[in-house]
Amino acid sequence: MGKKMKEAILNGKIISINDYNQEKMSRDLQCRYCDASLSYVREHPRDLGDRRIIVSRHFKLKPGSEHEEGCMNTVGGSLKNIYAKHADNEIMTKEDETYKVRILLVDNTTDFQSSSDQKDTVNNKKGRKLNYIPTGKKTAYLSTIKSIMRLRSELDNNSEIQNKLTLEISSNTGDKINVRWRNFYFDSSEDESYRKMLNYLKRKHDHSICVDGYIKEIKPIKDGYFLNLLPQNFSQEDNINKVSIGYYMKDQDMIEKLKNYKNKRIVVYAQCKFQKKTSFTPLNNRSNEPITFYYHNVKGNIYDKNQILLIDD
Ligand SMILES: [Zn+2]
Repeated sequence: MGKKMKEAILNGKIISINDYNQEKMSRDLQCRYCDASLSYVREHPRDLGDRRIIVSRHFKLKPGSEHEEGCMNTVGGSLKNIYAKHADNEIMTKEDETYKVRILLVDNTTDFQSSSDQKDTVNNKKGRKLNYIPTGKKTAYLSTIKSIMRLRSELDNNSEIQNKLTLEISSNTGDKINVRWRNFYFDSSEDESYRKMLNYLKRKHDHSICVDGYIKEIKPIKDGYFLNLLPQNFSQEDNINKVSIGYYMKDQDMIEKLKNYKNKRIVVYAQCKFQKKTSFTPLNNRSNEPITFYYHNVKGNIYDKNQILLIDD
């Protein structure tokens, strides 16, 4: 357990994963912040929907080894650090050894315009002011969320963080409601993750969610762009149905940056909504018979660069 690490101690010195050579160097590796023994995980492919992605090399804990309590490479140590940097009662609070973060909607900008291509993109409903980021706290809030996204992206799944960090939204009446991690962070490296997201969004879309996926394309449309993520099949058995996620955005600087990140991993924090189901019927390569695929399209909006975490794997 613990984070996937990019640095280790080798012969008393810090070594970056990029400089480590398993064939030529000692395998006696330690955590950068404590004495825990680490092992090296080489780059390996992973099938994701119809495409194969590459899991980048990293260091991980050796079986049977554990980080010292409070080590920066533990979830607890990382959360403590995030809390110390961003402590604000409206954003993040601490109760004993657990932390709580408020899940807020990213505010709609006044110049946001809908176009025919994305008219069904999320529209913010009125009367839920409690759930928006307080005025003047957008950067502080989103950078806290971004730190949390980074921490989670370095873990294998939600299991370790969900015990230490609770997520909370406020209802219309001001009641506090807990949001489960499995309904907040959807990781494309887990099978059926997007289908679970789709089912959840069909029932509920009154809070922002994180999607951890891969950039498929940046598609220009009237008045902006769509950042489309690599779709995921419903399941390993069902590759006819696919979940496709597209984020509407306008910011030219962000678009330029994203262009260099095609096929790379990204985490996006945004309010999302199921839009519509579309179909596509190409001829099967082998049999030459038509075959129909169904795309279940989820849409979201990106207004701020801090909603995006690009991962340099
Ligand atoms: Zn450690």
